[in-house]
Amino acid sequence: EQKDIATPVRTKMLLDKYGFSFKKSLGQNFLVDTNVINNIITASGITEQSGVIEIGPGMGSLTEQLAKRAKKVLAFEIDQRLIPILEDSLSPYNNVTVINEDILKADVKAAIDEHLTDCQEILVVANLPYYITTPILMGLLEQQLPISSYVVMMQKEVGERLSAVPSTKSYGSLSIAVQYYTTVEKVMVVPKGVFMPPPNVDSLVVKLTALNEPAVAVNDEQLFFKLTRGAFVQRRKTILNNYMSLFQNSKEHKEDIISWLERSGIAPSRRGESLTLQEFSELSNNFDKFSN
Ligand code: SAM
Repeated sequence: EQKDIATPVRTKMLLDKYGFSFKKSLGQNFLVDTNVINNIITASGITEQSGVIEIGPGMGSLTEQLAKRAKKVLAFEIDQRLIPILEDSLSPYNNVTVINEDILKADVKAAIDEHLTDCQEILVVANLPYYITTPILMGLLEQQLPISSYVVMMQKEVGERLSAVPSTKSYGSLSIAVQYYTTVEKVMVVPKGVFMPPPNVDSLVVKLTALNEPAVAVNDEQLFFKLTRGAFVQRRKTILNNYMSLFQNSKEHKEDIISWLERSGIAPSRRGESLTLQEFSELSNNFDKFSN
């Protein structure tokens, strides 16, 4: 009886067998703790009808536990050296497809249509490559794929940003973008020691549950996201000053900006970091063409 891949013994065996060396540049920190994996699985609510997308299977530590419970697992792994290892380590499971592609370039929609159409719901479950957490999540969320929830491990500071509320240090345009599409819950803090090799930072598992409709009603999403990003460019400055810099020729438009802010119920002296999603939606829906 083989031990789980997510044990130090079995992971070392695979590393030796294939002479594998970790690439720091690919965020390769493999999970070797079955308890952490069980917590991730429980939080994800997988059933035998679920189709699961995993980003970065590594040697298959999490993939194996997903394969045991889900209907199908679709895993995207960029590192070609891991493909033969995964073929070996996951050989007992016939419901796993590994795609050797960069998740940031892959056609995830087409892959879902090809592999997961017979699943009742699609979940993302992953121990993410930390160096690209934000582009991975934003890319998947913006494509509006039929994904009902995400249980993802990331660097703790980034996890704090996703769940942050206004007027805190972690609150920013990433918090707003993620909370526009999902509700965010922290699942657990994970210490460095459960990875091989250990990363330099602590980790956080976060659950994002897709909303049926965006959290706030926005007429022009591009403008909404421009205004949310623009409000945080200089965190210590007022919303008025940030928007003066955001729009060209702003001196001429100072009065216009002030009246637009006031019309939206926002005191010009407030800092961008104090605005809620609702307030940003008011601002974007009340916008006039003065700035263009
Ligand atoms: N799931 C494994 C585990 O928990 O042991 C490995 C997690 S490790 C933190 C991140 C994985 O993502 C590595 O296997 C790495 O090669 C892979 N990866 C890095 N960049 C990627 C990308 N752009 N697309 C797909 N996979 C990527």
